Amino acid sequence: MRQADKILFLQEKLLEWYKVSGRHFPWRNKSISNYQKVIAEVLLQRTKAETVSKFYIQFIIDYPNWKSLANANLKDIEEYLKPIGLYRQRSVRLQNLAKEMVKRNGRLPKNREDLESIPFMGQYIANSVELVIFNQPSPLVDVNMARVIERFFGPRQMADIRYDPYLQDLAYKIVNHKDAKYLNWAILDLAALICIARNPRCHKCNLTSQCEYYKVYF
Ligand code: SF4
Repeated sequence: MRQADKILFLQEKLLEWYKVSGRHFPWRNKSISNYQKVIAEVLLQRTKAETVSKFYIQFIIDYPNWKSLANANLKDIEEYLKPIGLYRQRSVRLQNLAKEMVKRNGRLPKNREDLESIPFMGQYIANSVELVIFNQPSPLVDVNMARVIERFFGPRQMADIRYDPYLQDLAYKIVNHKDAKYLNWAILDLAALICIARNPRCHKCNLTSQCEYYKVYF
C-alpha cells in the first residue's frame, strides 16, 4: 500500500476505534477553559494520563486560574506534583509559566513563533496549545506516539524523536485532518491500551492488516 493510502487507512481505523474505546479524562471535556487545557498539557508531559487524572480536578479547584497559581505557595504545588516525577523543577516551571501568563492577561498568541517565545512553554506544550486551543493539526509526538508510528510504518532513523524528519513528517501527515485532536488522542490511547511498549496486544488491534510490526512478528 502507498504511504498516502496507508495514512488514510490509519486515520479511519484510529477514529473508528477511538469512538468505542477511547479513554475519558476531564481535560478532554469540550466545556473546559483554555487555562484548564494548558494546565493539563503541562502536567501530562512525560506523565501517564491516569496519574494526572488522580489529582487534576482538585488541582483546578484549588488553582482555578493563572493568578491563583502564580500566587500559590510553591510547596503546595510541589505536594500536588509529587506523583509525577521531577516535581520540584516542574512546580517551579509551572508557577513561572503562570506568572508569565498573568503578565499577558492570560492571552495565548496564535502565531507559532510568538507561542514558542513564551518562557517555560517549550516545543511539546506549544504543539499541544495549537492542537487543543487553536484546533490546528499539530502532533503530540512523544515516545508513545513514536512507538505506534514506528511499528505501523517502520523504524525511524535518528535516536532523538524530536529531530527525526521521517517520524515528524509522518506524525504531521497523520494528524493533518479535521479531527486532528481525536487522532492524537486515539494514538495516545492505543499506545496506552493496545500498542503497549512490551508485548503489544495485536490480537485486539484493528490495524493488523497494514502494520509492519505485525507482518514481521506474527
Ligand atoms: S498491530 Fe500490534 S504492533 Fe501494530 S499497531 Fe496494532 S498493536 Fe501495535
